[in-house]
Amino acid sequence: MQFIDLITQKNRIRENLMKRIERIIDSAQFVMGPEVLEAEKKLAEYVGTKHCVSCASGTDALLIPLMAKGIGPGDAVLTTPFTFVATAEVVSLVGATPVFVDVLPGTFNINPDGVAPAVEEARKKGLNPKALIPVDLFGLPAEYDRLEKVAAEQGLWILEDAAQGFGGTVGGRRAGSFGLVGATSFFPAKPLGCYGDGGAIFTNDDELLELLISVRVHGGGSDKYNNERIGLNGRFDAIQAAVINEKLTIFDDELDLRNKVAAAYSARLKDRVVVPEVPEGYTSCWAQYSVLANSTDDRTKLMAALKDAGIPSAIYYPIPLHLQKAYENLGYKPGDFPVSEDFSARVFALPMHPYLKEEEIEQICRVITRA
Ligand SMILES: *Cc1c(COP(=O)(O)O)cnc(C)c1O
Repeated sequence: MQFIDLITQKNRIRENLMKRIERIIDSAQFVMGPEVLEAEKKLAEYVGTKHCVSCASGTDALLIPLMAKGIGPGDAVLTTPFTFVATAEVVSLVGATPVFVDVLPGTFNINPDGVAPAVEEARKKGLNPKALIPVDLFGLPAEYDRLEKVAAEQGLWILEDAAQGFGGTVGGRRAGSFGLVGATSFFPAKPLGCYGDGGAIFTNDDELLELLISVRVHGGGSDKYNNERIGLNGRFDAIQAAVINEKLTIFDDELDLRNKVAAAYSARLKDRVVVPEVPEGYTSCWAQYSVLANSTDDRTKLMAALKDAGIPSAIYYPIPLHLQKAYENLGYKPGDFPVSEDFSARVFALPMHPYLKEEEIEQICRVITRA
């Protein structure tokens, strides 16, 4: 059994995708070109923002807005310690300081009530709190109603990390569209993945758009040898754009299938493990289906039983960021973010993809409920 099945999906899109790739090869338009423009247009329409700027990875999609907004040394950027390292790493890459806020016990996402105290703590350390990066963890959008309110009160702008959230919604609004700017990833294992690295940035802000486009390619101004600011080489490849254009044609159907898989899991597992919560008015795109065991020992037992049955499982994330060696310098200690630490000790993820069969779900759940 596979954790993520990309082969069945590939078979659905292969014929049309190969036509697109042949067109790229025959025209030799490997950089930017019509496939990339088409992807940006379709992605902006899908997410419901005025603009989409494609880029080379989800990490670049987070980094480019921070560079465009001039975030740097002395600035604080708030985010959660229960996320993939890239969320905080980009803050460090621009020379600013990540300031962590614990997650909510129910949803794995940042606790809006933790934002104001973290702003105060950052100011006490002599930092200037500038931005907030909520993460749509495992596919569920963060609580943007409350986050947008508290961010406005605290003078922070929001960069939504929708690397796992693409396709999720809150009140009918799509992930990627919240805050000043949203970032997503097209890494193959994400809900909408390409065949290598890729990402995209979303905004409604015309001024920011110009800066994002400039930073994406070496800080270019009126022409490419007129460099107005420091940028990077963050372009999205045409062949990867072709993959996204084809996968978008089946994406809503895949979202539907992912939701059916998640519902089938939750119905069968809810009495044995803590199953993921999807609050009223929210939908998840199920980047991961993660549950909580009763304890670390219980998790070890359940994962071993799955392994014995030939079923893969994985831990996202075994060490919260404030306890990672790379972030020793921030001076955090065990106990600072108890919810994140508790999740790291008990969480594990089950196979999740649109093509998981009923028999497979049945088998996985049987192994867990009997262990
Ligand atoms: C995957 C991921 C990223 C980084 O995306 P890449 O495309 O791998 O660079 C950032 N944040 C989160 C939450 C992610 O899951």
